Amino acid sequence: MSDEAFFWEGVDRGQLLAQKCGDCGSLRHPPLPMCPACQSLNWTAQALSGHGRVHGWIVSKHPSRPDESPRTVVLVDLEEGIRMVSNLEGASHIEIGAPVEVVFREIGGATLPQFRPATGASR
Ligand SMILES: [Zn+2]
Repeated sequence: MSDEAFFWEGVDRGQLLAQKCGDCGSLRHPPLPMCPACQSLNWTAQALSGHGRVHGWIVSKHPSRPDESPRTVVLVDLEEGIRMVSNLEGASHIEIGAPVEVVFREIGGATLPQFRPATGASR
């Protein structure tokens, strides 16, 4: 199994997962075979809340397909202390530090995690 397979299997089930080191317990994303903190090869998959805050964002335009609508790429600081790059939906721009939550969308035949502004009801 590739290092990323568990992540996409989680996404298929509607779960956002990260690797948790089996020795020092630190979380990491994107998936890596070895813990950057302690070099351990042991890890387990940890479910994440899917809640976080916007660390930064850019509007990405496809250079060879100028007619395609630009997408907003967000860097999200997840509650668990790791960062994830994803697409933002439901807004073309967002405040730095604004709360966001994960949603799973079928795009081009694959399920992908996306983030949208959090509805605010839960936090
Ligand atoms: Zn470790």
